[in-house]
Amino acid sequence: MTSSSDVAVLMYHSVATSSTPAFSDFVVSPERFETQIHALAVAGFTSITMSHLAAARAAGVALPEKTIALTFDDGFLDFAENALPILQAHDFTATLYMTTRFIGGRSRWLAPEGEADRPMLSWADLETLAAGGVEVGAHSDTHPQLDLLAPQVLARELMVPKVTLEDRLGVPVTSMAYPFGYSTREVRQMTAHLGYTNGCVVSDVVSSGDDHPYSTPRLTVTGSHSAADVVLMSGRASTRQERTKALLRHHASRGLRRAGLKKKESAALSRSLR
Ligand SMILES: [Zn+2]
Repeated sequence: MTSSSDVAVLMYHSVATSSTPAFSDFVVSPERFETQIHALAVAGFTSITMSHLAAARAAGVALPEKTIALTFDDGFLDFAENALPILQAHDFTATLYMTTRFIGGRSRWLAPEGEADRPMLSWADLETLAAGGVEVGAHSDTHPQLDLLAPQVLARELMVPKVTLEDRLGVPVTSMAYPFGYSTREVRQMTAHLGYTNGCVVSDVVSSGDDHPYSTPRLTVTGSHSAADVVLMSGRASTRQERTKALLRHHASRGLRRAGLKKKESAALSRSLR
């Protein structure tokens, strides 16, 4: 059971039919996505955006028990083409985290995964999405590991998407998802300082009302999750043990990356710690 302060924040990336093996964990087929979203609707879940979740928690406003947040990282064109029609058909809203440098272009930062050519959403797409009630949040400018950056570079990576998106779209941009989920106290403090109200990490636990708003955990959804898996993970509060394990994984992964291991090697090692 969950209490009203527990909210599962689901993390998706791409809703598409194909991917390289290295990127397959981040791609859910449209058919599978439809079954997952349909099952959540049938189970009685309703959705809110991340800025609404942050505002409700800050104000101490209780949310309906079966509230979830659906988030989409990176800003792939397939969000508009494949995910949005399914979300709309089930009355779900979403938060979309944009990597601003690649808007209207291709996913160049994914070259190591062999996925440098995924088409990204354009500014025109984003205007339509924002006008249609999708929350547009920030996911840095160039998708670096924020926790390893010098302060000035970090400030730029956090500020550019906020200023650029607000300027072009005319909407407040108050939600941030740290690329790869990596953050430090410095990253979170600067995120708050720049006017964001919340920040998302990735730690595969359900978010509770006690979470720091700039370390809101998210649950990774992959194409191998069945509809039943997604309903189960969304409707159950995480235990203290699961939270501790998630924290240990986070620290281990950061230690390995700082020790100079490449992203892929440290990701594999941190997966083996699960
Ligand atoms: Zn990302």
